[in-house]
Amino acid sequence: MAYIKCKNLVLGYEGTIVAENINFEVNRGDYLCIVGENGAGKTTLMKTLLGLTPPMGGEFVRGEGLNAHETGYLPQQTVVQRDFPASVWEIVLSGTLSSCGKRPFFGKEQKALAEKNMRRMDIWELKKECYRRLSGGQQQRVLLARALCASSKLLVLDEPVTGLDPKVTVEFYQLIKKLNEEGLTIIMVSHDVSSAIKYASHILHIEKERSFTGTTKEYLKSDFWRELGGAV
Ligand code: ADP
Repeated sequence: MAYIKCKNLVLGYEGTIVAENINFEVNRGDYLCIVGENGAGKTTLMKTLLGLTPPMGGEFVRGEGLNAHETGYLPQQTVVQRDFPASVWEIVLSGTLSSCGKRPFFGKEQKALAEKNMRRMDIWELKKECYRRLSGGQQQRVLLARALCASSKLLVLDEPVTGLDPKVTVEFYQLIKKLNEEGLTIIMVSHDVSSAIKYASHILHIEKERSFTGTTKEYLKSDFWRELGGAV
């Protein structure tokens, strides 16, 4: 059984279809990139996977004991979020909220988990820093540490390299690849197809009425890739 299985999924809002005929599954250890033009429905699909937007039709099933709250999410950063007035420690710790149960405070276990993931992301020294004073790359590491506190199984990222300079972008992609090699399953929305084919194991390319799903190798032989010019 896959972590996520979608069959004939229809996405949209209040009676308006955004994309349909979406079929794919995500298995443990996969690195899936969701690509498509602006407005194709990538973010809507991500919201559906996170349980924030219900599908308009089709099937969406979680398996392998993956609960809805066991997904680490790295949202698309807005200018407001970049200015968020909190310390690095507070932001990372907030990722452990789902493991607090009904207790209204962070315990020893949550603090240890936050520290472990901050060290893993090499931001422990930034613990007391104000988030908004960090560079774009450091902010993404903070959000990654936060997402890792929420899940050690599945990480969902929405356009994570937006606004990062080319060097930091490559470092970020390499970091995600390393996490994937360490066992974390990755789903990433990206408009950057050339990086998607370089790092991902699987590609889901969505358009309004059709979609491609398969391994990256299969994608490179597909009409979708050919129609993009074959070399982005
Ligand atoms: P992408 O991420 O591929 O750029 P989106 O999923 O953001 O595409 O948007 C797909 C379509 O859904 C767009 O036409 C957009 O205007 C529409 N849309 C996005 N969010 C909403 C919403 N909350 N209510 C209604 N329509 C929306």
